[in-house]
Amino acid sequence: MNTAVETPHCLEGRKTLGEDGHFQFHCGPELACFNTCCADINIILTPLDVLRLARHLQMTTTLFRARHTVTLQTKDLQLPVVALKMEESAGHPCPFVGPHGCRVYDERPWACRMYPIGLAMPPARAGQPPEPLYFLFEDGFCHGREGGTDWTVARWRRDQGVIERDRIERGFRKLVTHPWFIGGRKLDPRRQEVFLMACYDLDRFREFVFESSFLKRFEIDPEEAATYARDDEALLAFAFRWTRFALFGEPTLTARPIGVGSGRKR
Ligand code: SF4
Ligand code: SF4
Repeated sequence: MNTAVETPHCLEGRKTLGEDGHFQFHCGPELACFNTCCADINIILTPLDVLRLARHLQMTTTLFRARHTVTLQTKDLQLPVVALKMEESAGHPCPFVGPHGCRVYDERPWACRMYPIGLAMPPARAGQPPEPLYFLFEDGFCHGREGGTDWTVARWRRDQGVIERDRIERGFRKLVTHPWFIGGRKLDPRRQEVFLMACYDLDRFREFVFESSFLKRFEIDPEEAATYARDDEALLAFAFRWTRFALFGEPTLTARPIGVGSGRKR
């Protein structure tokens, strides 16, 4: 298996597909290639992948990131990219592959669900929301395309539970394709740190929101704050929104005026 998220230059020589594009695929333990693809690969993780895998493994997102991920960086935007860390042992297997397949199957990452379909996001353009481009991986080691079921991209995404995940992560797409990047702007190290904390380490972001002066500094309805306190995925959507404010100065939140009511009394 390969990573399913790449940038448009990876499309050269590849067959692109629309939502209604057809392909044949079947994967299962009866195939000679079973499990061989879950080693020595780049699996790019989305923020929801990190959150759901951490919860599935009963870990904090902080520990999951430290134990199971590596952070890379895109060349053009210097955007951090979080990938699953393969084992050091011979063949570099995925830490979650077992003799009977994926041991975290119900919470397997977005890229593992989408394979053999890949996604490329075109760069941000003024006044034009970027549309994802799908393409087919045609790896020689994968026997899944030999006489498999006929799928469309839309049916595959639904079957693999990707549509619901994409809905939850809509705010993340807005972030990584933000018009701020138009013209070649890059994230500096401080912004990279903010991006990683808010998007990929929800337990640290929760501390930041609830154990600092955050709720005093922004106008957030108490009921809304209570939802964020109890619902990880609502907090993640809020983290994407706050990140646009913090990185790009987009008015996605309202800051309270500094110093109102806090002046020293005579
Ligand atoms: S997470 Fe599961 S499906 Fe993905 S590479 Fe690892 S074992 Fe394979
Ligand atoms: S069919 Fe492809 S995805 Fe499935 S186990 Fe074989 S190589 Fe991996």
